[in-house]
Amino acid sequence: MKFSKLFQVKYGKKVRFSHYDPSFTAGFKKDQVEKILVKDIASIVDLEYRLYAEGERSLLIVLQAMDSAGKDGVIRHVMSGFNPQSCKVTAFKVPSAEEAAHDFLWRVHKAIPSKGEIGIFNRSHYEEVLVVRVHSLQPKKVWSRRYDEINAFEEFLAKNGVTILKFFLHISKDEQKKRLQARLDDTKKNWKLDPHDLKERKYWTDYMLAYEEVLSRCSTKRAPWFIIPANRKWFRNLAISRIIIEHLQAMEIKTPKPKFDLSNIVVK
Ligand code: AMP
Ligand code: MG
Repeated sequence: MKFSKLFQVKYGKKVRFSHYDPSFTAGFKKDQVEKILVKDIASIVDLEYRLYAEGERSLLIVLQAMDSAGKDGVIRHVMSGFNPQSCKVTAFKVPSAEEAAHDFLWRVHKAIPSKGEIGIFNRSHYEEVLVVRVHSLQPKKVWSRRYDEINAFEEFLAKNGVTILKFFLHISKDEQKKRLQARLDDTKKNWKLDPHDLKERKYWTDYMLAYEEVLSRCSTKRAPWFIIPANRKWFRNLAISRIIIEHLQAMEIKTPKPKFDLSNIVVK
């Protein structure tokens, strides 16, 4: 089964979340998946090594989701076997004064992984049509043209050797309630509770509308969106690692040939 096909938003498709089940597990069971996950991490490690050795192309993984949907968990899981030398995580926060003084893609472009590297975005340029839209941080006239600007930017990157995979971690509003409640009740999780998340939760419907528009307008052939059912953490991790593997395999990365005639070299 190809996970990419199952979860990729087809170009031009109008996304309605009522048609997507955040608890979907494609018939998999938790116990069975744990073993697959260990194997998948080993495959990612091998593919990452080859990408680094080739040094020609890069991979950008974009993670977007409501609070508590598991962006940090995915990063911990997917990266658990990565070589820290060739992988970089960037978390996008409220823009600094310097960032806000530039165009909205300025800070994003600087964080694009170099050739041979994997970059993970914890939030991204999509905040510019999500939080900015939901809270009217910019006039509609400004944010509404950003969908096309983002598509053009990603097309440019893709043509220049960046493979882009964008994941929306889809949880239900009830599941978020459970997770936020657990942060309140469990002393080990207290540190994760951010009162700001409780405020944002009140805008759930507005965020869902904003996400539907992002997924409907910005899933392109070269930079697809995937809607990942994320109520079950183990299935979320499985789907994302599978999709990353499928794409890295399709890149047919070859470790470079030696630059010298090895037959003449003797190590004394
Ligand atoms: P966290 O990821 O929980 O550390 O929170 C980061 C916060 O920064 C979130 O509330 C985001 O919505 C916010 N944020 C990220 N990018 C932007 C942006 N371009 N404009 C405004 N707020 C942003
Ligand atoms: Mg937060």
